Amino acid sequence: MKFASRIDKVPPYLFVEISRKIAQKKAQGIDVISFGIGDPDIPTPENIVARLREAALDPANHRYPETDGLPEFRHAAAGWYQRRFGISLDPDTEVLPLIGAKEGIGHAALCFVDPGDIALVPDPGYPVYSVGTWFAGGECHWMPLLEENGWLPDLGAISSEVAQRAKVMWLNYPNNPTGAVATSEYFERVVEFARENDVAVMHDASYSEVAYDGYKPISFCQVPGAMDVGLEFHSLSKSYNMTGWRLGMAVGNAEMIRALMVVKSNLDSGVPQAIQHMGIEALNGPLDSIDARNAVYQRRRDRVVEVMRGMGLSVDPPKASLYVWVRIPSEFTSAQFAEKLLEEADVVVTAGNGYGSHGEGYIRLSLTIGDEDLERGLERLATLSI
Ligand SMILES: *Cc1c(COP(=O)(O)O)cnc(C)c1O
Repeated sequence: MKFASRIDKVPPYLFVEISRKIAQKKAQGIDVISFGIGDPDIPTPENIVARLREAALDPANHRYPETDGLPEFRHAAAGWYQRRFGISLDPDTEVLPLIGAKEGIGHAALCFVDPGDIALVPDPGYPVYSVGTWFAGGECHWMPLLEENGWLPDLGAISSEVAQRAKVMWLNYPNNPTGAVATSEYFERVVEFARENDVAVMHDASYSEVAYDGYKPISFCQVPGAMDVGLEFHSLSKSYNMTGWRLGMAVGNAEMIRALMVVKSNLDSGVPQAIQHMGIEALNGPLDSIDARNAVYQRRRDRVVEVMRGMGLSVDPPKASLYVWVRIPSEFTSAQFAEKLLEEADVVVTAGNGYGSHGEGYIRLSLTIGDEDLERGLERLATLSI
């Protein structure tokens, strides 16, 4: 068979070896506890599921949706934005429902990247920014995320030649995998950079509603000029424990939204309407409906940080996101350390280099693990000698 080169361009799955070991252990009946994947263990709120049950019975929802979605969904999204961030969006031109943020992120590359173009991509980062770029025939210019810069790309380190050639910049705050957050001063510098170099900014805000200690993540669109240069991606997945339902939205610059519509209307037929009704229910609900959920994650975060520090590891408690990003002792690589935890404690963590070469030296622990498993896993880790 003759496959397109983009199929080979995707790097081999970095966790093949560890996945094989997990499968082996499980086959032997060993109780493996995974802090690996970021997929909420807490169910979707009951009122949101009830809305789906109702919507499923309405034959109007059995037919093709429109790519731009139900007007009620777009209004709910704009209303949520107004209440949450104080920004007015035009629901008809500045909001587009997505089949999850991942879908929108992947397709957005097709709006900006021609073969040979450059995308500015954070390293470490969520893999879809780079894979989407490659699928569109573009090249990634990696922006290292370094601890000393607060895990924010150093815009001054991007050469003017690269900046001139770049079509798009990907950012993600609260950040996966580092848990870092961005300030509005930083976003202001990003807008300035985007203007100077005519670069589209794609901000992934999938974790905007997962935050701790009273911290409220900001929106890129809150910064003056942001709506001229970029889009922001939101996901109901992490905000409302809805990973299984596949729902998100892009908001921002109307011309960019229109370009994304061109791609999507030709490749997918939009979000199933019954699922959009779940989104309407979620987004029209009170903003504090997620506080209790965040309190659960915060307790878990505190326990993970406590145990990591007890193991002698260095960790900054994240203000937001679902992840604790832990620096490991320098005598190990990330993969070696992850393997050690699996071998000696039957605990799975993600090796930081799986998110890019600058993730080397770190591991990521996800907080989306039930309280009992979390405690059992942490007790095992606490007894390890590093
Ligand atoms: C989970 C995640 C997504 C995907 O969200 P979906 O709406 O479920 O597709 C996007 N970006 C980041 C950084 C994520 O961690």
